Amino acid sequence: MVAALAHALLSFLERWWSATIGEGVIFDLRVALFDHVQRLPLSFFTRTQTGALVSRLNNDVIGAQRALTGTLGTVVANAITGITTVVTMFMLEWRITLLALLLVPLFVLPARRVGGVVTDITREGMNLNASMNATMTERFNVSGAQLVKLFGRHGDETAGFAARAGRVRDIGVRSALYSRMFLIALTLLGALGTAAVYWFGGSMAIDGSISIGTLASMGVLVAQLYGPLAQLTNARVDVLSAFVSFERVFEVLDAPNPVADAPDAVASTPGPGGIRISGLSFRYPGADKASVASLETESTPGEPGRLVLRGLDLEVAPGRMLGVVGPSGSGKSTLASLLTRLYDATEGSIEVDGQDVRRLTQASLRSRIGVVTQDAHLFHETIGDNLRFARPDATVEELDAACRAARILEVVQRLPDGYDTLVGERGYRLSGGEKQRLAIARLLLKDPDIVILDEATSHLDTENEALVQEALTEALAGRTSVVIAHRLSTIVGADEIVVLDEGRIAERGRHEELRGAGGLYADLWEGLVREEREGREPHAPRV
Ligand code: ATP
Repeated sequence: MVAALAHALLSFLERWWSATIGEGVIFDLRVALFDHVQRLPLSFFTRTQTGALVSRLNNDVIGAQRALTGTLGTVVANAITGITTVVTMFMLEWRITLLALLLVPLFVLPARRVGGVVTDITREGMNLNASMNATMTERFNVSGAQLVKLFGRHGDETAGFAARAGRVRDIGVRSALYSRMFLIALTLLGALGTAAVYWFGGSMAIDGSISIGTLASMGVLVAQLYGPLAQLTNARVDVLSAFVSFERVFEVLDAPNPVADAPDAVASTPGPGGIRISGLSFRYPGADKASVASLETESTPGEPGRLVLRGLDLEVAPGRMLGVVGPSGSGKSTLASLLTRLYDATEGSIEVDGQDVRRLTQASLRSRIGVVTQDAHLFHETIGDNLRFARPDATVEELDAACRAARILEVVQRLPDGYDTLVGERGYRLSGGEKQRLAIARLLLKDPDIVILDEATSHLDTENEALVQEALTEALAGRTSVVIAHRLSTIVGADEIVVLDEGRIAERGRHEELRGAGGLYADLWEGLVREEREGREPHAPRV
């Protein structure tokens, strides 16, 4: 009775501890993964399939969890049962015990074979799941779904998906068969062992060298030995397949960050915000240390590409505006990414207030720089949350002030729930101009020393254009700015304009000088004037 009570209590404690340890490790792994992935350089995200990455954070972590929560307890409990049984058996009758133990090595053989197969199957299953996840995340967002519909591709998409789902199904069946065969082999071995004990023990009992009682006890004990042994062998296979998950999780966790803070990095302190760029060259990295090969798209280039920026020398005095123009693909957005250190220069340096950006902590550098990108991304959250992304403790009055300055307050007030309106891809769809103004409001809340603006190339109507221009004037006032300009009004106002062509500075100067020079800038300007004139005609076709 005491033993039964102790067993009940111990089994409860065992489950509690194994669950606490297992879940605790998973919690640590998950948080560490999320944190690590966020810190990885942008190059990691441009190459990685989001769905496959998410699958690793979910499915693989769960795979690892199974080993810990389920198996840990089994291993400990069965090891204890097995050892105590062997000791008891030896105390009762050592010869029969030795015979029973002779079979033990045979348990290891099928485990080896099955372990290898299960590991391969698990890895293949995980890869297929990740690839299905990647397809789903790409197709089940607004732009993806729209593309599939417009090209009438849903049949082909389903067929492709079904092929992979079918392979997962086959793997499931194979894995079930293997585990059943494995179980049958173990049961068979147990039965053989038990029969041997009865046969050998039986003849000893007939001889009278052991009592019937000892024989009966040995019969019970041998079952108590082979049961846990089978479970331990099974656990070994489970652990092997869980190792596949661990391996995949650690592959991501071990990806080092080539754009990490230097060990002696210092914080950039707020200041006038002067920028100096010397001999700056850049090529997009090929597969680098931060790459996780199994997460990349198949077309990922392994070799670094050509130089996108070549030997740029630039200086922007505090409070001044540098306009950057140039044909598509000339490296304008790339320059913006380097200023915020989303990438590190291949050659040359960028200094902010006299300090090389590689010597500054990234957090302090980015806290001083505000960026409005071409696509002005908004999260699927409320407008208020999106704005507070820049400053979590901003009051409603501060939000109002920023929105008023960015000429978006009226639009927000007209929305059904004001600041509580959900926006983003799956929420209220703001127009291009509205999104840009909201992004400018977010930037104003951040109140940076330096502003980098990648103007959207899309045409805005006259009213929107005027509002965005007013918002920009507020955003740029008194701040150092680098503006990748696509609008006439922005370009004209710049203190200096550089014209990039294939990563080189082709021309530089103020608007009037460049316009008169009759070079690339004059051509670009003519094109812009023509485009804007045509774009503003009431019935002109828009792209
Ligand atoms: P646009 O005006 O069309 O936006 P841009 O002048 O801003 O063009 P960038 O986006 O800086 O041009 O691109 C410069 C070159 O670098 C292009 O040839 C582009 O194909 C290449 N490029 C951009 N991003 C990457 C990347 N992540 N990996 C490799 N090459 C890239």
